[in-house]
This record gives sequence, C-alpha cells and structure tokens, in this order.
Amino acid sequence: MQHQQDLRPREQPAAPGFADIAAAITAPTRESLAEGHAAIGALLDRGDASARAEAIARFDTLRREYESWSALVHLRFAQDTTDAEAKAARDHADTLAPFETGLVTATKRRLLADRDRAGVEAALGRHALRLWETDVTTFDPAIAGELEEEAKLAARYTELLASARFEIGGATVNLSGLAPFAEHPDRSVRHDAERMRWEFFAAHGEELDAIYDRLVRLRHGMARTLGDATFTPLGYRRMRRLDYGPAEVARYRDQVAARVVPLVASLLEDRRREAGWDRLRFWDEALIDPAGNPPPVGGHDVLLAQAQLLFDRLDPRLAAFYRLMREGGFLDLKNRPGKAGGGFCTAFPTHGMPFIFANFTGTHHDVGVFTHEMGHAFQNWESRTLPGLDSLWPTMEAAEIHSMGLEFLVHPHIGLLVGEAAAPRFRRMHLIASLGFLPYGVCVDHFQHEVYANPEATPAERHAMWQRLERRYMPWTDYGDLGHPAKGGRWQAKGHIYGAPFYYIDYTLALCCAMQLWVRSRTGGAAGAAAALDAYVALCGRGGSVPFQELLASAGLVSPFATEALSGVVGKAEQVLRTATASGAA
Ligand SMILES: [Zn+2]
Repeated sequence: MQHQQDLRPREQPAAPGFADIAAAITAPTRESLAEGHAAIGALLDRGDASARAEAIARFDTLRREYESWSALVHLRFAQDTTDAEAKAARDHADTLAPFETGLVTATKRRLLADRDRAGVEAALGRHALRLWETDVTTFDPAIAGELEEEAKLAARYTELLASARFEIGGATVNLSGLAPFAEHPDRSVRHDAERMRWEFFAAHGEELDAIYDRLVRLRHGMARTLGDATFTPLGYRRMRRLDYGPAEVARYRDQVAARVVPLVASLLEDRRREAGWDRLRFWDEALIDPAGNPPPVGGHDVLLAQAQLLFDRLDPRLAAFYRLMREGGFLDLKNRPGKAGGGFCTAFPTHGMPFIFANFTGTHHDVGVFTHEMGHAFQNWESRTLPGLDSLWPTMEAAEIHSMGLEFLVHPHIGLLVGEAAAPRFRRMHLIASLGFLPYGVCVDHFQHEVYANPEATPAERHAMWQRLERRYMPWTDYGDLGHPAKGGRWQAKGHIYGAPFYYIDYTLALCCAMQLWVRSRTGGAAGAAAALDAYVALCGRGGSVPFQELLASAGLVSPFATEALSGVVGKAEQVLRTATASGAA
C-alpha cells in the first residue's frame, strides 16, 4: 500500500489555475525522455525492492509529465488550428509520440517480466498490469513510423474540417456553428444548413476518401506487423478492452436493431404526422421538438452562471468541483473561427486537474455538451488520488457513463439552464435524441468492423458498405436532394471514424448504463434520486481501477451485453414518452 501512495501526484497546490499548470509544463525532448527511462532502467538493474519501488514511482511521474504536456499541446491546437506555433507544437508531439510509446512499452515489458511479479503487482495493482499486458501488444518499434503518419493524417482531418466556413443567416460560421441553423424551426433554413454542410463534404470528398484509405491501409499494415490478421483485434486492444470482444459487440448491435430501430422509426413517424409533412427528410431529424428544440436560457456567461446554481442544488461535491473549474480557467466553451469542432475533456495528471473544451452555439447542444464533458471532468477529479496513472481514466465505454450519466442526472434541475417552462420539453427531447443516437452509433461501429475486415476495399465500396448498413439501422433516412450523403458519404463527417477507430460503440454501451441511472433516479422519490447520485459519484471515484463490467457490477448496473439491460431502459423510455404524449407534457 505504501508503494501505491507513492504514485499519487507529488505536488498538489490547493487550487492550481490553468495558467499555473500550463506555465509549469515543459516540453520533453527525445533526449530527456530517453534519459528518464534510462534512469528507471538503471534502478531496475539493481534488482532490490526499494530500487524497484523508486523506479515504479519515477515511471509514473515521467508518464504524468509527458501526458500533461501532450494534453496541453493538443488542446492549444484545438483552440486555434490556424496558429502556426500551436500547429508546429502539435506536429512535434505527433512525431515524438511513437518514440515515447516505444520507451514506455519497453519499460512496461521490463516490469511485467520482473522476477518479483508479486511485488510489482502489489505496487501497481492487478488491473494496471493486465492493461499493460494488453498495451505492450499494440506497439513495436517497427511500426513507429506508421503511428506517426497515422497521427498526422488524423490531424489533417481535424484541420480540414476546421477550415470550413459558411455564410448563413447573415453570419460566417464553422461546422459547429451550423448547428442552430440545422435545427431551426424554419424548414428551409434547416435544409440550407444541411445543403451547405454536405456541399463542403462533397467538395472535399476525394481528399477525405484518400485520408481514410491511407489510414485503413496503415492500420491494417501495423496489425499484420504485430501478428494480427486484421486491424480489428489490434483496435480492440488499443481501446484496452479486457472483458469483451467483437462477438459481444455484434450481439449488442443486433439488440439495438431489434429493440430500438422500430421505436425510433415510430417516433419519427409520429413527428412527420404531427408536422403534416408528406415525408420526413434528413434535415427534419434534428428538429426533435415541433415547437423548436429548447435552447439555453442565455449565452456563454449566463449558462455558466446558471450551471453553478444547478450544481449547488444537485450535489455539494459537483458544486465545489465546478467552482474550481470555473475559477481556475479550466473551461473553453465559446465557439470561434479556427477552433476545432466538437467538445472534449482532457486532463493534466501532474496536477490532477481536467479541462473542458467545447463550442457553444446557442442551441440545446450547449447544455448537452457541457453536462457531458462536466461528467468526464468530475470523474477525472474524483479519481485523482487513485494510485497510478492507469487508474485516472477508465476505458472509454465506462468513461462515457460518467458523462452521459450526468446528462440525465441533471434532469430535475434542467429548468435552470433552459427555463422552467421549457424543462419538460427539454427532458423529452433529450430522451428522444438519446434513443435516436443508438442506431446511428451502432451503424458507425458496424461500418468500421466491415472496413477493417475488408482493407482492400475501394473508397466507392466503402460508401456502398455504409449505405447498406444505414438501410439496416436507419431505414427512415431520406436525404432528398443532399447528394453526398445520398451516395453513402455521411460517415465522412464522423471524426471518430478517422481519429479513434472502434471508439464509438462505447457511447452506445454507456448510454444503456447511463439510462439505468436515469431510471433509478426516477424511482423511490427523493431517496431514490439521492441514491442514484451517490452511486454515480462512487462510480466516478473508482475511475479506471477495474475493467468495464466490474465497474458496472460495483455500481449495481446491468451489463449492456445482457439482453435485459437495453430492453429494460428502452421500455422505460418508451413508457415515459408515450405517457407524456397522452397527457401533453413530459
Ligand atoms: Zn464523452
């Protein structure tokens, strides 16, 4: 236990601000990294228990320093993709990453092979060693050059999408900025937004195909070098999945097809009928609430202030943490030109602090993205004193429970963010959007399984694969005159397919678990709601200390791989939606 305590962040000022942390982070070089690992190697050469303990502690510190720097560099680039200095720093990081992975892998191998395995396990914990056993199979110096090229292609994708500019509604916006227009109550505005979006993807379709084609071939080649038949098993190991594989995931997709697809189809049909449209087009899907998707009560500053009230009412632990994030400057949520799209949470493990990045656009997405990323950030914070870097984040399907779980747990107080009058409509919209996400999410996953099973496929064949799967999971999709997605190009807008292979099913698995928390929070009155929140906070605190399904069991959640889990939450959601429709409120 004593060794474990050594792995905690060494210095933790009472409330470090983001600027302090950024100033304290120094860029590593090949030399500094090599020296650090050589010193660890020298300690391990000594072979005694105290030298090994020191080596393990130094290894953890070195990795924390590297990860904090890498997080900062990637964050700065995302904050302004047009900043030449930020881009150069990111290029440097992308070049250095495979070198660092090589050193880390070698040190992990060395510790895994230590003759006092029990001593190593006592210091690091069994789960961390199992993760390392997986990690070391994903790297070999022979693929270092390919990994570097892979990172650069992913950065090129981000940069290309960030370059998009649209003139709409008298403003110039980027892809994220299209959101308010894409869900505008005026149908022709929605159509305009989607037309512009897909014209951009059509104009860059060939380059996007070329980037992906190269990525698929690179990944397949790396897998072959590492002894895998295709990239799929390597992709799963890169995601550090220890307790399930493609067979379980395929069964889950089948459950979504059987249980969720018909329900979503029927909800969309209700909407079409209510709106009096002859057909529900693709550009109608984003307008979930016929009266207009409830927007936040105000812009960035108002929303951030209201969020404090919300967390104050919800839970003192979340309230204190949010105050720390806000006062410390760990939020960058405004949308601006040149900023990369989307939202994410990153972290500086040297200091145990997370950071939230998003693009507020004045739509309900602001509320969703903010509560989502706050969930990730809170988990990272709650885990900050767990021993060892590997416990700070769980694997992603578990991590997305913390984020999606919070999206649901704020429901009772959501009126503070969207106005009390709109609160029931917001909750209903969130529920419908969550159900509607599942078929799309599993489609993105299924597509990637087919892509990597057929690495020789041409870009045209990949578009055909997507179309075939789209017909299975989203048979209602009607692109009308949007040529590019109608020809199978919709997947090109999904960054995970490019930059984070096989990281998408995670959202759908986590949603099934987050919705279980939602059901619990609505059961048993105030005591039930408090118990659901306590279970959530405890789950956050367990971070990545055990594999996915063990985390679920510890929180009393049913694994999504058990059939009853999905059908249970979907049944409850359907009941709530139908009851609300009948009585006119949710
Ligand atoms: Zn997330």
